[in-house]
Amino acid sequence: MPVMESVIGLEIHAQLKTATKLFCSCPTSVGSEPNSHICEVCSGQPGALPRLNAKAVELAAWTGLALGSKINNFSIFSRKNYFYPDLPNGFQISQLTPPICEGGGFTLPESENKFIRLNRIHLEDDAGKCIHDKQRGLTLVDLNRAGTPLIEIVTEPDFRSPAEVVEFLKKLHTILVHLKVTEGRLEEGEFRCDINISLRPKGSEDLGIRSEIKNLNSFRHVSQAIKYEVIRQERQYERSEPIIQETRLFDPVRQETRALRSKEEAHDYRYFPQPDLPSVPVSPATLARLKSELPCLPEETTMVLLSLGLTREQVAIIQNRRGAIEYFEAAKSFFDEPKQLATLMLELLLPAALREDIYPLETKCTPKLLAVLAKLITDNTLSRRAAYNLFPEIFEHGTDPKELAELRGVLQVSDAGAIKALAVDLIKAHPNEAKKYCNGQEKILSFFVGRLMQQSQGAANPKLAGEILVRLLKSQPK
Ligand code: ADP
Ligand code: MG
Ligand code: ZN
Repeated sequence: MPVMESVIGLEIHAQLKTATKLFCSCPTSVGSEPNSHICEVCSGQPGALPRLNAKAVELAAWTGLALGSKINNFSIFSRKNYFYPDLPNGFQISQLTPPICEGGGFTLPESENKFIRLNRIHLEDDAGKCIHDKQRGLTLVDLNRAGTPLIEIVTEPDFRSPAEVVEFLKKLHTILVHLKVTEGRLEEGEFRCDINISLRPKGSEDLGIRSEIKNLNSFRHVSQAIKYEVIRQERQYERSEPIIQETRLFDPVRQETRALRSKEEAHDYRYFPQPDLPSVPVSPATLARLKSELPCLPEETTMVLLSLGLTREQVAIIQNRRGAIEYFEAAKSFFDEPKQLATLMLELLLPAALREDIYPLETKCTPKLLAVLAKLITDNTLSRRAAYNLFPEIFEHGTDPKELAELRGVLQVSDAGAIKALAVDLIKAHPNEAKKYCNGQEKILSFFVGRLMQQSQGAANPKLAGEILVRLLKSQPK
C-alpha cells in the first residue's frame, strides 16, 4: 500500500452574540423554560415573514474583515430543505451562493507558519433541540434555540494533522471571542465544528472519499476523533474495503467514531433562494464603518503591549485571561504607566479575581482605583510593600487607596523639611558614627537610613532620606 496522508477540512459554527434571533425579535438567551422564547417566525408558522437582524450581518462581515476575506456587497439566503422534528419550517435558512464572505485565512505559527485558506463564511439560523425523555419514552421539542444566528466558517482541505487542526481552532476561537463576535462557550456549543477527513497516497493531488465527524465542541475530542478516524480509514484501505461518504459521530467514552447516516450532497437539499428575504446588503459605506470599528486583533494587541514595555509572559497572561485586556486599557486611561499597571494586575488583581471566580471588571477594585494605587507607588508616595499590604482591603471594599494609606499612616513622607529635622537629630545623637562616615566608612550610611526609617515609622521616603543624610553628613565640620 502506498504511504497515505490525511487531508482534513473544517466547518466551524459559531453562535453570534446578538440580543435577538436572526429573523425575529425573540431573545437568544439560554437556560429559560422550554419554548418560552418563540414566536410565529422561529416556530415556523405558515405565512410568518422573517426579518433580517442587521447586527448579525455586521458581525459576520466583521469576522470576514478580521480573517482577510472578501465581503460581498450582495449575498442571498437560500432554503436548505430537510425534515427533522427540531426544524419547524422544514428548511434551514442558510446561504449557498453567494455567501456574505469568501476567501481569507491565516497562518499557524506553531506549524511552520502554514497558511490555512478559508473557503467561505456564511450566515444561517440554528435549529431547535430534541429532548429525549427516556423515562416517559417521549421525545420533546424545545424551539428556544431555533432561529439563533450562526456563522459557518468553511476552510479549504488544507490540514494534514490533528495538531494543525487544533492550533487553527484555538486561534480562530481566540480571534472570535476577542472580536466579541461570539461568547464562544464551548460547553454551550457556541463554537463547534465538523471535521471532514479523507486519505490519499502521499504526493497525489486528488481528494479521496471523505467522512464527516459532526459537532465537536472540545479541542481534545477533535484531536482524538481525527486520530481514530485516520486509523479507521487506513484499515479500510488495507483491507481494500471502500470508504463510504458518510456522517459520523465521535464517542469520547469509547474513543471511536460511529456512522450516523450516509452523507447528503448539496443537491439533496434542493437549495433555492428564500423568497421571503431580500438580498443581504453591505454597502461600501457600511463596510468602511465596520473596518474603522474593527478592534485590534490579538496579534496586533500583542505587539502593542510588547511595545509598551511589557514582557512576553505578562502579555500572554493578560491576553489569555478573559476581560483582562479591557481592564488594562481602562486603567491605562487613568494612569499611563503600562509596566506599573501590568505588574499590579499580574501580582495582585488577576490572582485575587481568579480566587473569587469573577472577571477583572467586576471586582470592587475598579481600574481607576488600581490606577491610583499605581500612581502612589510611581510617585514614591507609597512603598510597594505598603501598597501590597493595602490591596486586600481595596479589593474587598473598593476603598480609595490614598485615603486608606492616610488612615493607616503609611504614606511616605516626601516632605524634605520633616526628614531633614529627623536627620539632624540623628547625626547629633550619633557623633561617633557620623565621624566614621566622614573618615570614609560610607557603609555606615545604611545605619542612619535604617534609624531614620524607624523613627518615621516607615513613612519616610527612603531614597529622599538617603540623599538628605549624605548631604548633611558631608557638610559636617571635620
Ligand atoms: P458539505 O457542506 O457538503 O459538508 P463542502 O464541499 O462545503 O461540503 O465541504 C465541507 C468541508 O469539507 C470543507 O472544509 C472542505 O474543505 C472539506 N472537504 C471537502 N472534500 C474533502 C475531502 N475529500 N477530504 C477532506 N476534506 C474535504
Ligand atoms: Mg459538511
Ligand atoms: Zn421568534
